[in-house]
Amino acid sequence: MKTFLWWGLSLCLCIGFQTTSFAQNNLAMGSSNQPLKYRIAFIDPRFQLTREKLVEISQQAAEIWHKETGKTYFIYDSEAQLAINLIYDDHQLMKSEQQESLNALLQKQEVWRLKNEEIILNKQEIDQLSSDLNKRKISLKTEFEKYQQDVIRFNQGEHRYYRADELKEQQNQLQQKSGNLQNESNNLNFKIQLLNLKIRELNQEQNDLSSLKTQFKLEQKASIQSFHKGLFSQNQIQIYGYASLNDLRLTLAHEFGHALGLKHTTDPKSLMYPRLKEQDIHNFKLTDSDLELLGSIYSSIKENH
Ligand SMILES: [Zn+2]
Repeated sequence: MKTFLWWGLSLCLCIGFQTTSFAQNNLAMGSSNQPLKYRIAFIDPRFQLTREKLVEISQQAAEIWHKETGKTYFIYDSEAQLAINLIYDDHQLMKSEQQESLNALLQKQEVWRLKNEEIILNKQEIDQLSSDLNKRKISLKTEFEKYQQDVIRFNQGEHRYYRADELKEQQNQLQQKSGNLQNESNNLNFKIQLLNLKIRELNQEQNDLSSLKTQFKLEQKASIQSFHKGLFSQNQIQIYGYASLNDLRLTLAHEFGHALGLKHTTDPKSLMYPRLKEQDIHNFKLTDSDLELLGSIYSSIKENH
């Protein structure tokens, strides 16, 4: 589901965006010992979540509060005042756009990686050619030195061993070999120039990529700071986005806590911590600090009555 992909972004680029703000609460409800009734009012179809599924998730969120206390705090009731809305807002849209620009970035990075691999192979090939060419140059130099010795001996009158036409033939062969080597050397130099050009291009692309990455991280940071995925206000719980159903369940449970009148805790593992951070979202249990908050609310109610 496209909607949820953006949560993974932070992991890809190793930016610490796992901490997503829950919104601050506004108003306390449920100040009696009666369970709080809630209904599902609106689900934006772009979430691709059925009402039945959301009811199920909300009941699991309510169960988080029930499990550790043995007390029923929340009951689903289609006629209830407290309404849950899943609102697909601009933030969600922005996340999709960011996902697209991340995809483009990753694609560019992959193209770069392939080019880099090709250049490495190319360089290995050139090194090999260059080493072969050097060996042949050395061997030609030896042959040429021997030829020079032969010419000296011939000039000194050792006609028995060296005939003039043989020496002439030898000279032609050496000139031919030397010409060939020169051509190959020119070709190799041309290849090296091309390779250097490619390397310069690749380095430029790498610079472009890293400035794109920096820009992307900044955009991510700016957008995440203003993003509240859940909000409780009066008799409404608004959910603006979630990464997974586990995340949605915990976000709902958190907003349920506000609906009871609870404020935030300072324990990052607790449900009522303002951000989803270190909580075990797969198998969440209320922490002592959540239970303390709950206890303080209910004892103050008892005192007031
Ligand atoms: Zn909150």
